[in-house]
Amino acid sequence: MNDAILTLSNVESAYGPVKALRGVSLRVREGEVVTVLGANGAGKSTILKTISGIIDPRKGTIEFAGNDITARDPAHIVGLGLSHVPEGREVFPLLSVGDNLAMGAFTRKDRDGAARDLEAVYRYFPILKDRASQPAGLLSGGQQQMLAISRALMADPRLILLDEPSLGLSPKLTKDIFEIVVRINRERGTTMLLVEQNAQMALNAADHGYVLENGRIVMEDRCEVLREKDDIKEFYLGMK
Ligand code: ATP
Repeated sequence: MNDAILTLSNVESAYGPVKALRGVSLRVREGEVVTVLGANGAGKSTILKTISGIIDPRKGTIEFAGNDITARDPAHIVGLGLSHVPEGREVFPLLSVGDNLAMGAFTRKDRDGAARDLEAVYRYFPILKDRASQPAGLLSGGQQQMLAISRALMADPRLILLDEPSLGLSPKLTKDIFEIVVRINRERGTTMLLVEQNAQMALNAADHGYVLENGRIVMEDRCEVLREKDDIKEFYLGMK
């Protein structure tokens, strides 16, 4: 049985001489929220960059929705239905919030669908509707994170890659963002691959989790199982 929408097999990536991924294999099933946990520098962002085509892997293969996307260019991969929300959000600061959202729908042909998705985005994040005509650079960090997720949604993707959505956010905002991520997954069926240092939030939000250390997957299980493991409690959840 293979209901995976995304499969990485033995993927190795490097920055010059620096090996960042040392044979990563993982599967994301359609409709799930999957998380990759790991400390600073473990290689989490590199996994997402390698999937979305920003970095070409040295070895291994990546399959998405039945297509071999190994080392394909990012525009091709986006066109197949995969959106990447990078760490640090990277909204267009001088464009209005509304224009940032329109950029997300740039390649879509179905205008009605894009209009419906804009309404959906404004339901998830009403503040973005209030600020639609303001430059995105004036939004707070949390609001920019909402905009980055929303811009990805405007492409109506099958899979969203989310890089550290909690970075720099207050605990309250982090909780709010994770709740919406789960809601989007449940309501729209959008598959999510989420990398996080905030293990507590990620393990509560996700169905399945991988633990990455030093470019290698060292553990994998359902999140409810991972939450009970002593190593996870000690090293990732800060419990004894
Ligand atoms: P963080 O949470 O700090 O972003 P991460 O788990 O996402 O950490 P990566 O950013 O994927 O980790 O980095 C993995 C390894 O690759 C680290 O050793 C890092 O120093 C190295 N690295 C990342 N980007 C570059 C780069 N542009 N040039 C050289 N080395 C890099």
